[in-house]
Amino acid sequence: MHVHEFQDMMRRIYFHRDSERAVVRTFNWLVEEVEELREALKEKDNEAIGDEFADVFAWLASLANVVNIDLEKAAIRKYNGRCPKCGQTLCKCPF
Ligand SMILES: [Zn+2]
Repeated sequence: MHVHEFQDMMRRIYFHRDSERAVVRTFNWLVEEVEELREALKEKDNEAIGDEFADVFAWLASLANVVNIDLEKAAIRKYNGRCPKCGQTLCKCPF
């Protein structure tokens, strides 16, 4: 499954609710899931970490749907085999 297929699937399942919830509240859900990922990483619980990555990705796709952004196109446009900051295929940016 490609990223755009996953985003389309999220649109089919959730867009009727996501569009009603609108941008700010959908964004807030994404932030909440990122916080839950932080907690799972802190606790080093691999099953929970996987679940939270899935939730972050799902809410990111939902938010992209609400603002009509193709996540796959946007990601590839910016990260097309090179670091967008230094332009190198093997990032040489300072830490
Ligand atoms: Zn770089």
